[in-house]
Amino acid sequence: MDKQQEYVLRAIEERDVRFIRLWFTDVLGVLKSVAIAPAELEGAFAEGIGFDGSSIEGLSRVYESDMLVKPDPSTFQVLPWRGEENGTARMFCDVLTPDGEPARSDPRSVLKRAMNKAAEAGFTFYIHPEIEFYLFKDVEGPDSPLIPVDTGGYFDHVARGTAHDFRRDAITTLEAMGISVEFSHHEAGPGQNEIDLRYADALSMADNIQTFRTVIKEVGLRHDVLATFMPKPLVEAPGSGMHVHMSLFEGDQNAFHDPAGEFHLSGTARKFIAGVLAHAKEITAVCNQHVNSYKRLWGGGEAPSYVSWGHNNRSALVRVPMYKPDKPGSARVEYRALDSAANPYLAFAVLLNAGLKGIEGDYDLPEGAAEDVAAMTRSERRALGIKSLPASLREAIEIMESSELVAETLGEDTFEFFLRNKRTEFEEYRNQVTRYELERFIPTL
Ligand code: GLN
Ligand code: MG
Ligand code: MG
Ligand code: MG
Repeated sequence: MDKQQEYVLRAIEERDVRFIRLWFTDVLGVLKSVAIAPAELEGAFAEGIGFDGSSIEGLSRVYESDMLVKPDPSTFQVLPWRGEENGTARMFCDVLTPDGEPARSDPRSVLKRAMNKAAEAGFTFYIHPEIEFYLFKDVEGPDSPLIPVDTGGYFDHVARGTAHDFRRDAITTLEAMGISVEFSHHEAGPGQNEIDLRYADALSMADNIQTFRTVIKEVGLRHDVLATFMPKPLVEAPGSGMHVHMSLFEGDQNAFHDPAGEFHLSGTARKFIAGVLAHAKEITAVCNQHVNSYKRLWGGGEAPSYVSWGHNNRSALVRVPMYKPDKPGSARVEYRALDSAANPYLAFAVLLNAGLKGIEGDYDLPEGAAEDVAAMTRSERRALGIKSLPASLREAIEIMESSELVAETLGEDTFEFFLRNKRTEFEEYRNQVTRYELERFIPTL
């Protein structure tokens, strides 16, 4: 047993932990959990705990369904909402095959593979996410209307608002689990909020985001509100995105920073952006995985619909934010399409590999856009070579199907499963007869 494992066993005794939840994530980004007794933990560290992987979305084929989960001791945290006595703790796990090999369809191992590839080139990939979500009054079911908890807008201070208490409770819970929060505020939509996490390496951040979603749901239950990460719940209000600020570090040096470069960006950063832009359409299905994601991308409200980059241009897909020149560590690029219904492990892996392709392939960065690309006419955009992001899940899947980058990043099994699942999602959606159609056509046709 190594030091970290010993630490976990000691912490379990000292903190009266009776249940240990082993967490892992399926291909669609849904968190899975199996609880074990503390007495099982030594065995779990040594060999893993067996389970039937065939019942988990995308994890294994039925004829090779035995899988193992092996807890990562560095992710040990006590769950604050389960109380101090008879406590419950969690650890994220790697999913292994019965021979102890990383399961190819474990999203955590997909991201680890991409991070290892970056490490071979000397890079660590860091992420700082801005996570948006809506708070609605608790609803009975899909037929009851969605009523936001307040009518506040961007940065509004809502007196005696639910949102303040909610955010304070959520942030305290996150901090108790070792997740630092940098900013939080009311967002533009009624009942819409944003919480920004302090940057961390992409693997820790993907774990943090899975924890974040769980915490937000738990706190929602405690406050009798419905918290949702659905990308576009309201037709008339902005959707919820998860902008990610990305940087590559070489040791403790930010490889994106160069005081002599335009906007203080290094050549490495320029090539990284060029890679992300060149592959943006292929990775959209992974970054925006649901039929509803495209309602956000094409619904205005500062969500990007076109492939462009700019300095402080909020209509751009990739934005280079201003930062304090005396803080070279904070030089970074922001990718604005991602939504928080994505699987963070897979999304970070495709973003990283798209950027690395730009660096390896020495891609040229096209001219940045200084204007609002959404306000331009079609022909203006065409003249500037600005392409559109996919307009629907179907279009996104079709583009992803022929992407070598995404196939290589996800690995064959995950790639095939993901496409199959998304084709079905689109077909189910297409077969619906919507309220819009009834209201529009029944009276006239
Ligand atoms: N809600 C917007 C989106 O969907 C972002 C708004 C903002 O943070 N400026 O991307
Ligand atoms: Mg923000
Ligand atoms: Mg925001
Ligand atoms: Mg932002």
